[in-house]
Amino acid sequence: MLRAEIIAQCLAMNEAGLNHGVSGNISARCGDRMLITPSGTDYTKMTREMIASIDLGDPEGAFEGPLKPSSEWRFHHAIMAARSDVNSIVHAHPIYCTALAMARKPIPAAHYMVAIFGGADVRCSGYATFGTKALSDEALAALDGRTACLLANHGMIALGATLDQAMWRATELEVLAHQYCVSLTIGGPVILDDAAIDETLVEIATYGKQDV
Ligand SMILES: [Zn+2]
Repeated sequence: MLRAEIIAQCLAMNEAGLNHGVSGNISARCGDRMLITPSGTDYTKMTREMIASIDLGDPEGAFEGPLKPSSEWRFHHAIMAARSDVNSIVHAHPIYCTALAMARKPIPAAHYMVAIFGGADVRCSGYATFGTKALSDEALAALDGRTACLLANHGMIALGATLDQAMWRATELEVLAHQYCVSLTIGGPVILDDAAIDETLVEIATYGKQDV
């Protein structure tokens, strides 16, 4: 069931233009293991058996499956092991998030929707080579107290309690990045103060996570 849901979300991610080719990857917690999309596999040809399973307690990430897990399994693994609030992770290279990440620009409180990611900004991590433990460490630091981050000169990560929630956040993050980029071209946004974001955080807690 969860495997089928991962495949459906991969197809939806490409359909929505959030990802191009096979650069993105999706994971979901399954008991004390993590299911993750395999490396370099065309989503339209992906079957449930092809999804790799990794023990969350094993730092070396020994996997089960016919195909190697995504080359980015390390940060999925590190985030899921460190964050009990996270059951699903979406990683992709959408255009506007990646454009900001290439400029190493975090997203400030230019719109109240930034609060759905947990605070007054979405950070951009430091740079590290894809697939490395160094990148995992950078991602974990940028995600502290947040449910999304940009990865320097690379892309983005969105987290969720469910696959739907992680994909919702990934979609909203790309919309916010697009809006922020356009705003920068007309002189730049007015940034909301901490009180406005704190109030929004209270409203989000009241209305529920996907109702803002
Ligand atoms: Zn990537």
